[in-house]
Amino acid sequence: AKAAGRNCARFFTSEMDVALQERMALEKLIRDAATHNDFVLHYQPVFEIVGRRLVGFEALLRLPTADGTLIPPATIIPIAEEIRLIDKIGAWVLREACRTAKSWPSDLTVAVNLSSSQFESGSVEPAVAEALNESGLDPHRLELEITEGLLLNHTHATLETLRRLKDKGVSIVMDDFGTGYSSLSYLWKFPFDKIKIDRSFMESFAQSGHNVETVVKTIIALGREMNMRVTVEGVETAEQVDFLYDANADQVQGYFFGKPVSAARVEAAMLDDRRS
Ligand code: C2E
Ligand code: CA
Ligand code: CA
Ligand code: CA
Repeated sequence: AKAAGRNCARFFTSEMDVALQERMALEKLIRDAATHNDFVLHYQPVFEIVGRRLVGFEALLRLPTADGTLIPPATIIPIAEEIRLIDKIGAWVLREACRTAKSWPSDLTVAVNLSSSQFESGSVEPAVAEALNESGLDPHRLELEITEGLLLNHTHATLETLRRLKDKGVSIVMDDFGTGYSSLSYLWKFPFDKIKIDRSFMESFAQSGHNVETVVKTIIALGREMNMRVTVEGVETAEQVDFLYDANADQVQGYFFGKPVSAARVEAAMLDDRRS
């Protein structure tokens, strides 16, 4: 038993070594990418549901690797927060997204996701100001998406920062709405311009025996009542679109309308559009 125990311990140790090595390799990739600005943004279209009009894009972070794959934000962001590179990467995302949006038709918006760490460090305001100044983008075309995590332990300073950003003309979006425990209780603490109903609601849509349709309709009605626009993300089927149209959603986003693509592909699609 003793021998087996020792083997066992050795087995786990080597597994941990592998995990640790993978983690160290990822950290190095992220550090190098932050130094050389090797990240890329992909852009997912957002449509107004009435008339199916393109209104803008959400910028989503990726890290290209040597083998041609893309490391997703769910892997990048938590590590970047831990190794304290999120402010630097977040500032790059803002600059890159604003610079790219500046080249689009002037009625299109760009949405950028923010991490709560960027508020804690106080880096978000100067980063937004710099991105806007440098690109010359009209602040009304920039949307900042924040999650409940930011508001969970929010301070007076957080709300003041959001208010000053809003005063600049930037829109503030409550992202992943409905996934946390207290989304609802933040709606009257800050005047959001928009709420984004999380993708998980559309995932449950097809499953029978759920009241998800009633919940989504109620959130949309609530948003309207509070003068907030409502976007629904993760829309994948025509059936969901029909439902959301009837439910009076403002905007939709999801694979049904378009997956996130590179800035070059956005550009190509727009030029095609103008030629046709
Ligand atoms: P999110 O803000 O909720 O973004 C939507 C995610 O859902 C994106 O995943 C998008 O590719 C995916 N998605 C969009 N439509 C559909 C659909 O119809 N079906 C399905 N199954 N998925 C869909 P992605 O790009 O992997 O991003 C994951 C999360 O990472 C984002 O969730 C956001 O919270 C975070 N993130 C992305 N970019 C950044 C960034 O620059 N900074 C920070 N702090 N977070 C970011
Ligand atoms: Ca988002
Ligand atoms: Ca989401
Ligand atoms: Ca999110």
